[in-house]
Amino acid sequence: MHSRPRGTRRTPVSPEYATERRDPTLYAEAVPKIHEILARGRSISFEFFPPKTAEAQATLEQTLVELVPLNPSCVSVTYGAGGTTRELTHDTVVRITRETSLTTMAHLTCAAHTRAELTAIIERYRDSGIENILALGGDPPADLDLPPGELTHAIGLVRLVRSLGDFSIGVAAHPEPHPRSPSLESDRRHTAEKLAEADFAITQFFFDADHYFELVASLHRLGVDKPVIPGIMPVLSLAGIKRMAELQGSEFPEWFAAKLRAAGDDPAAVRRVGIEEATKLCRRLLDGGAPGLHFFTLNRSTATREIYANLGLEPVG
Ligand SMILES: Cc1cc2nc3c(=O)[nH]c(=O)nc-3n(C[C@H](O)[C@H](O)[C@H](O)COP(=O)(O)OP(=O)(O)OC[C@H]3O[C@@H](n4cnc5c(N)ncnc54)[C@H](O)[C@@H]3O)c2cc1C
Repeated sequence: MHSRPRGTRRTPVSPEYATERRDPTLYAEAVPKIHEILARGRSISFEFFPPKTAEAQATLEQTLVELVPLNPSCVSVTYGAGGTTRELTHDTVVRITRETSLTTMAHLTCAAHTRAELTAIIERYRDSGIENILALGGDPPADLDLPPGELTHAIGLVRLVRSLGDFSIGVAAHPEPHPRSPSLESDRRHTAEKLAEADFAITQFFFDADHYFELVASLHRLGVDKPVIPGIMPVLSLAGIKRMAELQGSEFPEWFAAKLRAAGDDPAAVRRVGIEEATKLCRRLLDGGAPGLHFFTLNRSTATREIYANLGLEPVG
């Protein structure tokens, strides 16, 4: 796993995260690029959403304090499609970059945006020293009735980001094909085209390692061998995960649902099953050659820390 040389940035994030300011003399080193991290070894990343309230902000700060000792390769911050978290995402990414030792990545979606809006967002990141962007299509909330956006697919955003700076660019990949795809083949083809122009992909969550290995194999057959990092969603409740899986077109396997049901009404027992299965999935993925793991943390640290410990993943000091 990537480790930044000691002394070049402050480590780790402290509880005073909210008030500390960056000392430019300590931060001469640029934020590392994710494709360079991947070229050296595994990338283990944690995904957060931008907090909308003071309480959510405090939760994220506490989570960061708890996760920094794991020395992740990168942390990423999601973007509300259509621009619903435009400022919040920007401010959260820039703040984590300036005030902690963590390498950051900003998510950006092209749906409902004009090219000029996207250009302004990307240039602002470039000028703030942000090096990593996850370029996505996005699904704006239907009730906002937003225009379709000038770039119709994520590949257009990859090209725009590439044209505006020396970024490391990630894209989304869908082990079970994207729900809007007419066929598996068409989704694989579009993913291959997009990944060929980007630097790496991160997948949507899934529960069967074979879905991931099949995705990687089909991209290879299409001539694309860039790193594909599996996205990991620890399951902490049956109702919650069924809802999420339905929304993004993942199959929630019956064997897994049955295991969770067998744990009954005891939330701690359900959680134990979820962590155990996530650990097994991660182990299979890493043993099978996955270039890292990307954890959807939902702004909490415990599940990620437990899986990390179960896997024996040592923070690199
Ligand atoms: C790791 C990860 C992080 C994410 N973070 C966010 C986030 O922060 N905010 C957010 O709103 N959403 C996020 N998403 C969800 C993502 O925005 C949705 O899944 C979205 O519906 C598709 O995004 P995409 O980048 O795959 O889009 P695209 O690559 O544009 O693909 C969308 C659909 O269009 C098809 N397609 C692609 N290119 C073409 C083409 N040239 N011609 C015809 N069809 C084409 C694809 O096969 C697919 O069916 C994330 C997803 C992942 C996996």
